[in-house]
Amino acid sequence: MIFIFGISNGRKELDYHQSILCTICGKYGRYLVFMEYMYFSLFFIPVFKWNKTYYVRSTCCGALYTIDRELGNRIARGENVILQESDLHLVNKGCDFGLKRCSRCGYETREDYRYCPKCANPLDG
Ligand SMILES: [Zn+2]
Ligand SMILES: [Zn+2]
Repeated sequence: MIFIFGISNGRKELDYHQSILCTICGKYGRYLVFMEYMYFSLFFIPVFKWNKTYYVRSTCCGALYTIDRELGNRIARGENVILQESDLHLVNKGCDFGLKRCSRCGYETREDYRYCPKCANPLDG
């Protein structure tokens, strides 16, 4: 008997839409909720999940927040939850999301480059 198993990282979009007036960029947008988790699979079938984290992203500027697991679980169950500002824990403001800046030549990129494409300086972050 050979067991094929693995530990992977999953993401699930939740069925949640809330219209907002964004406090960061001042535009109208929506909150999207998704969940990230680790899962253990056996023969490519997920057996159990753990380390669930719920995230909220605004569609206007891409700001990223986390919300409490309890609240996320309620959204996942399909409850009619209205997210308040006090429920959201800011992870980053969208405009700087994933931005890397070369310390040598100042080149900015959102791509996952390990080295600056202009001057080959190693990029951190
Ligand atoms: Zn915004
Ligand atoms: Zn550079």
